[in-house]
Amino acid sequence: MENMMKGKNVFITGGSRGIGFATAREMLIEGANAVAIVSHYPETREAALKALNEEFPGRNIVGYTFDLEVATEEEIGACMKDFISKFPDENGKTHLDAVCSIAGISHNNTIKNIPDGTFEKVVKVNLLGTWRVDRQAGLIMRAQKYGSIVNTASIAGVYGSSMGAGYGASKGGVIGLTRSLGRELSYFNVRVNAVAPGVVDTDMTRKDNTPEAMEYVKGTIALHRVSQPREQARMFVFLASDEASYCEAGIYHVDGWTTA
Ligand code: NAD
Repeated sequence: MENMMKGKNVFITGGSRGIGFATAREMLIEGANAVAIVSHYPETREAALKALNEEFPGRNIVGYTFDLEVATEEEIGACMKDFISKFPDENGKTHLDAVCSIAGISHNNTIKNIPDGTFEKVVKVNLLGTWRVDRQAGLIMRAQKYGSIVNTASIAGVYGSSMGAGYGASKGGVIGLTRSLGRELSYFNVRVNAVAPGVVDTDMTRKDNTPEAMEYVKGTIALHRVSQPREQARMFVFLASDEASYCEAGIYHVDGWTTA
């Protein structure tokens, strides 16, 4: 398909690499009017912007930097408002059509060896960060009476993670947040859904797993392979688009049927 996102302004956290970067690419391929990517480092933001601008010359692509562990809601909201002020419709009206909250961190520790503060940090970035992004997006979309928010859960939030209590807890929280905000914002024609990826071939996965561990993981997946970021990105595009007009408060597994 092409042009699923025609005319849409899309704001993506975690857009500098991995699933977020792949989602930014797919949004542009699908004709998005403008895409904002957020990174927590200026250098990674600039590298991602350079790559996107080379591939999609002349398109509306902008970058912002904030650290979800510490950024205030006001700072996050100011970035969204700045973004949409740059790309109004032909009548000069601003619009925020989709927000993909993809930024996140993981950890790989048992309760015996997890460093002090790691559980808290993971929950701060993954759950509280998603909440702050969603709230600011939701307030804008509630007022305009449409929009789509797509969060990032994980199958670890559904089935648990044997070496990631903080990660599993944070992603379980994202699932509850998504279902609750979806119910609340449905009254305003705003859809809130989440993608729950299985294992994806990204820096995060490579950091947490040895090659031997990856072989074991593949054995737990019915499709016998991990996914590529683009395979996750396509679900973000679908849920962000009007094609998903009847999807509300849902958690969409993209996991190749992972059984453990
Ligand atoms: P990645 O490490 O490649 O990318 C993570 C992104 O989040 C980066 O753009 C990074 O800049 C951003 N980020 C991290 N900490 C941040 C902070 N404090 N403030 C702002 N931005 C921050 O990871 P990925 O694999 O692409 O993961 C993307 C999302 O998908 C995450 O939410 C992750 O939990 C989730 N997920 C990944 C997998 C997997 O197997 N890789 C599986 C399930 C869910």
